[in-house]
Amino acid sequence: MTRPRVAVLEAVHNNPHADTETILGAVRTGLPEVSRQAVYDVLHALTDAQLLRRIQPSGTVARYETRVGDNHHHVVCRSCGTIADVDCAVGEAPCLAASNPRGFRIDEAEVIYWGLCPECSTAPSP
Ligand SMILES: [Zn+2]
Ligand SMILES: [Zn+2]
Repeated sequence: MTRPRVAVLEAVHNNPHADTETILGAVRTGLPEVSRQAVYDVLHALTDAQLLRRIQPSGTVARYETRVGDNHHHVVCRSCGTIADVDCAVGEAPCLAASNPRGFRIDEAEVIYWGLCPECSTAPSP
């Protein structure tokens, strides 16, 4: 493990669902000399190694998190873009049993819930 790798893992761990800019800023607090490209490269390498999970809800930039391997879902606020973790739906994973998988062997279903976070849903309308 190189120092940028450790720093990136720590930055993502401390900032779940952070975008690249946030991660870059967090890494530079400990490693001021690290280049943007180095952080990009490390993010890709760690994602390929499945030490990081990359999510990209439509309309947003890519986010990273260290909570990997449990195929949890995300809820995204339509208003402010806040992202939170959501555990799998209780009971059978309904959408993994696609009604017509067309011969594909399915191993993952990506679910993103959209709505308003508590702050935004209680904000007075303009
Ligand atoms: Zn919100
Ligand atoms: Zn998550």
